[in-house]
Amino acid sequence: MDRLSSAERSENMRRIRGKDTAPELVVRKLVSALGYRYSTHAEHLPGKPDLAFPRRKKAIFVHGCFWHCHPSVRCKDSRVPKSRTEYWTDKLDRNVARDKKRLTELRKLGWKAIVVWECQTEKALRKLTTRIERFLRQ
Ligand SMILES: [Zn+2]
Repeated sequence: MDRLSSAERSENMRRIRGKDTAPELVVRKLVSALGYRYSTHAEHLPGKPDLAFPRRKKAIFVHGCFWHCHPSVRCKDSRVPKSRTEYWTDKLDRNVARDKKRLTELRKLGWKAIVVWECQTEKALRKLTTRIERFLRQ
């Protein structure tokens, strides 16, 4: 019996495919185009930021909207499934709490971090580019 929902299944596929998800690649490309160099998957840092800028002590997380619960009313991907709602709410709440904890830990080490949401990498990138540029420059 197939016990995985389609969201779980696609996340599993993503995990199997490895770390280089499409939204991450979009952000990496954009950052490279801005002329910044970064390291990927800084394993030693809390939350393992997707892009890390060690000299600047800055980090960018690229989060999937569903699994990390993008808190935006306009985001269509962050809705809790209508079936097994309690299960999903629990699970997703735990993810959000974990993200928050890791971000706090990272900030305690003197790092600055921003989160880029998956859905923000799917449309016009001008706004995102400006935001990232500002973050890295400041
Ligand atoms: Zn979103």
